[in-house]
Amino acid sequence: MRTPLIAGNWKMYKTAAQAQEFVDAVRPHLDGADAADVGICPPFLALPAVVQAAGGSRIQVFAQNMYHADEGAFTGEVSPSMLLAAGAHGAVVGHSERRQHFGETDAALALKVPAALEAGLTPILCIGETQAEREHGETEDKLRHQIQEDLAEVDPDRLAQVVIAYEPIWAIGTGVVATPEQAQEAIAFVRALIAERSREQAEQVRILYGGSVNAENAPELLGLPDVDGALVGGASLKPDSFAAIVATAGG
Ligand code: PEP
Repeated sequence: MRTPLIAGNWKMYKTAAQAQEFVDAVRPHLDGADAADVGICPPFLALPAVVQAAGGSRIQVFAQNMYHADEGAFTGEVSPSMLLAAGAHGAVVGHSERRQHFGETDAALALKVPAALEAGLTPILCIGETQAEREHGETEDKLRHQIQEDLAEVDPDRLAQVVIAYEPIWAIGTGVVATPEQAQEAIAFVRALIAERSREQAEQVRILYGGSVNAENAPELLGLPDVDGALVGGASLKPDSFAAIVATAGG
């Protein structure tokens, strides 16, 4: 059985004070059942505030990016050991906004994913196709390429320690959500790609759906057999909608 994960990607929203307010508001909603894991991915500057406000709760805190090296002359970057020391559980890597606006490459991710694992952090690796790639029938090629490149240096026995988020780029922040058939088909395909390296790990690896998930569409998406949770952007910014999605996942 795979424990679902609902992770809220706040993108570049919320100061430390606003982050604390959010956690204070959402915590009472998370005190009940715990069939789902809960993650919050705040901007770096709000990360310590979320760690502190979430203390003693089951909220896991993830950064939105990470560099692979542990220290050095890398101005503007944050290392795995710095995140660990700040109380982070993991880091989102390869989000399409980082690939699109900041030149994140598969070669960089091939270093970041194993570096996170080495440090004891859980990487949430984002992959997904553009609208044009889907229209040209290139979705599976894109996913295969990203999985092969980004996980190339991960030992097959550790693949299930990675969380994969399938996020069709055309569904991110657009209000256009993948149909249940599209989400299930793509995520089952990603699981089959992992099975090419380890059948056992493929059974265990958690693969999330991301792209305009909200409290209304979550029940259908989270009910799909291969979908192990969601990476939620816009709907994770309000405690009520985030808590409702967590509750849908059994949390
Ligand atoms: C995201 O930021 O990864 C995301 C899926 O955003 P949204 O839910 O707003 O589409």
